[in-house]
Amino acid sequence: MTYNAYITKEQITGSSEGPLAGKTVAVKDNISTDGVQTTCGSAMLEGYIPPYDATVVERLKAAGATIPGKTNMDEFGMGTTTETSAFGAVENPAAEGHVPGGSSGGSAAVVAAGDADLALGTDTGGSIRCPAAFCGVVGIKPTYGLVSRYGLIAYANSLEQIGPIAPTVEAAAELLEVIAGPDERDATTQDATVHGTEYDFAAAADGDIEGFDIGVPIELVEGADDGVAEQFWAAIDELETMGASYHEVELPSVEHAVQAYYVIAMGEASSNLARFDGVGYGQSGGYEGNWNDTFARSREAGFGEEVKRRILLGTYALSAGYQDKYYRKAQDARAWVKRDFDEALAEADVLASPTMPVSPFERGESLDDPLKMYLADANTTPVNLANLPAISVPAGETDDGLPVGIQFVGPAFGEETIIRAGSALA
Ligand code: GLN
Repeated sequence: MTYNAYITKEQITGSSEGPLAGKTVAVKDNISTDGVQTTCGSAMLEGYIPPYDATVVERLKAAGATIPGKTNMDEFGMGTTTETSAFGAVENPAAEGHVPGGSSGGSAAVVAAGDADLALGTDTGGSIRCPAAFCGVVGIKPTYGLVSRYGLIAYANSLEQIGPIAPTVEAAAELLEVIAGPDERDATTQDATVHGTEYDFAAAADGDIEGFDIGVPIELVEGADDGVAEQFWAAIDELETMGASYHEVELPSVEHAVQAYYVIAMGEASSNLARFDGVGYGQSGGYEGNWNDTFARSREAGFGEEVKRRILLGTYALSAGYQDKYYRKAQDARAWVKRDFDEALAEADVLASPTMPVSPFERGESLDDPLKMYLADANTTPVNLANLPAISVPAGETDDGLPVGIQFVGPAFGEETIIRAGSALA
């Protein structure tokens, strides 16, 4: 079975030596690959061949990885189910008839199906952690600034990071080691050694959580379905038997996180996607004497429904007269979320919650109900608003046999801590 997980299957061979020699690493189709089609899951970019590699792709090649192809995704990363792709929906190899999560659904599916050893995804509001949780694999959303975004085709650049998806925490950590580190072509990257990180992520996957103090944000557990919460608490019990302890914490701001996230993400998207007008980038609308009509024809034909919805809402939220009402408020909420996390993390090593409050939707279930889809991001979006690192690891299955993920959130550049916590389980 193919799961429709790849948009382009074309092998890119790296150096013959390096830490990833002999490994296949599938790459999400919003990450630029020199000479290989990169579509972002959009008809707008069908046939687009980037003339350069993203920094993470350069690093994969130098580390000896083989890239087997470019993975399917929600169009421009906008979605939670990998059903908004112009190249068709992706199946969940771990739960037939259900979505693989999104937007990096193709990347999680190839790893879950064993079609690639590892994969890269991107996470703007949960797009690595959600598919990892729904497909029963591991995903890491790095601290904002740990991994270069150079060559990532932007959806909402103040929120997104590229990160690894893998069958185990150790394998995800090894891949993170290869892609992490400052890049002069992305001024938002930082030298993490300044924050006490040694970039020794794989070594942190030692499962030793003796004495770990885990904070559990009650808001993020109370909103979860019973079957998901049950598996979450079973995982916490297991961690306790390994020497960790937990206490409940409060994050009152997270109640506003989904709203703030969507205002900011759609605002940034409306600006980032302005370049796709069929002249600079994207399929031509055909000039017939009027440039506005030309652009409109290109965008009408090239973008799918979800992308159009977000460009319209984002443009509205940023327009004169409404900016204070929406965008500025969302930025205030973002600052509040960040403060809440900092306070909670001052008294805990990591915070733990279910990655997703729900188990994988049946295919087609959320397509007619965007709000339902947006609300499923309740536990993942706060982490992007706060620029923090988080990992999702498998935490059993519901009674119906659907995968459940547990998420650990750490302090900024605390990748080693979340990797250690996750490695106790997977
Ligand atoms: N589901 C969220 C959205 O649709 C997150 C997507 C992502 O992280 N790229 O925006």
